[in-house]
Amino acid sequence: MTKRRRLMIKNSVYKKRRARLLKKISKGKGNSIAVIANAEICLRNGRDNEYPARADSNFWYLTGFSEPGAVLVLAADGEGSRSVIFCQESVDFVKAAFDGDVIGTVGAKKRFGFDTALSIDTIDAVMPKMFCESDTLYYHMGQRSDLDRRVMSWVGEAKSASYRRGAPPITAIEDLDVLLSEMRLIKSPEEIGLLTRAGHFTGGGIIKAMQSCRPGMMEYQLEAKIHEWFRYHGCGGMPAFSAIVAGGANATTLHYVDNNCLLKDGDLVLTDVGGEFELYSGDISRTFPVNGKFSEAQKRVYQIVLLAQKAAIQKVVVGNSLADCYAVAARIITEGLADLKILDGDVEELIALGMDSKNPPEASYKKFFMHRTGHWLGLDTHDVGSYFNSDGTHRAFEAGMVLTAEPGIYIKPAPDVPEEYWNIGIRIEDDVLVEKFGEPFVLTSDAPKEIADIEEVMSFHR
Ligand code: MG
Repeated sequence: MTKRRRLMIKNSVYKKRRARLLKKISKGKGNSIAVIANAEICLRNGRDNEYPARADSNFWYLTGFSEPGAVLVLAADGEGSRSVIFCQESVDFVKAAFDGDVIGTVGAKKRFGFDTALSIDTIDAVMPKMFCESDTLYYHMGQRSDLDRRVMSWVGEAKSASYRRGAPPITAIEDLDVLLSEMRLIKSPEEIGLLTRAGHFTGGGIIKAMQSCRPGMMEYQLEAKIHEWFRYHGCGGMPAFSAIVAGGANATTLHYVDNNCLLKDGDLVLTDVGGEFELYSGDISRTFPVNGKFSEAQKRVYQIVLLAQKAAIQKVVVGNSLADCYAVAARIITEGLADLKILDGDVEELIALGMDSKNPPEASYKKFFMHRTGHWLGLDTHDVGSYFNSDGTHRAFEAGMVLTAEPGIYIKPAPDVPEEYWNIGIRIEDDVLVEKFGEPFVLTSDAPKEIADIEEVMSFHR
């Protein structure tokens, strides 16, 4: 078990986040208003069977309130700042009998600390009036066309109602997503606690898969072992993303998610999976031998990826960037592949060719390592936040950022590649926190990645 940090997010934390956002939006001229909507329920086959509801990450970040269809409005004006939640007032007897009751406006105000809670049925009447008093609207345009149309209709009504007053409302629309993404990019201690839990359970699922794996199993059976572990330990009803469980040649397809093939003796299996805990995502890749023992050829390629991954993790410190992680991983992978005669040519030249995106990938190490080395991680697996500065340079790491480190090597059969390496696909991925001082903190160290440790875990249960 990795070291734990303080867990659970209290209502006071959500209130502070709303206060921070209100402070940001009130910096502009005049009165400001922000609209953030939760996800709606989605129906399967257009009938009455619903997909599992998952809160919109921005909405959840500011509320901790999961009711589908609810809308949060934050307003900053001469009277100060306030939060308004629009949610279901109640449901009728029959709906309550089938689906249970709702929190309601009284519960939302009392339990979640919103200043005002109104029935969602009143939103079309209330919002134009609120917009009448506002100069700048903060809203994430372009994410949901149905909501875009509705918000614009409120703007239109507000403008019509204010026509004869002289000062038109909503003279500017700002992208709310930019502000929220920047807030979400730096994780609080509570969030790091939840990400650690998500990483811990995801690592447990990987260990379970290592212990359960046998030649003759199907990939989906290994996936089931992992997802059973997540759910048994309190992760959400859905994993953070579709599991990749790829045996043998399937591992050379980066986003293979069919998971419907036989796991064969002598092959490796690549697992890239994530449990979601309290809506925070784990994301771990481990590659291990189906029969519990690496072949010598598999070991040689694995060690290159492992060395590259450890070096990439070491670069996850304040002031560095994802470009530093990538550069060190690309160098180690190129040198390693050249040593194994999988890549032919001058190492420095191969690296230079790969670093210039104008060159075809087949001309460099990118023939075998064709993706980047990581992404932000948080409420979303590919979490929000810009990767670049406004001048196009790579953004420097800051304390509290969490990202993945995940180099890989994928070798398809080719006449110029020694046959013993054909169909080997290896990715090793951990979730890493940028610490204020010193070494990066790996949130996912439960899952073994040294060859000896993997073989020991796999031998123990057979
Ligand atoms: Mg992953």
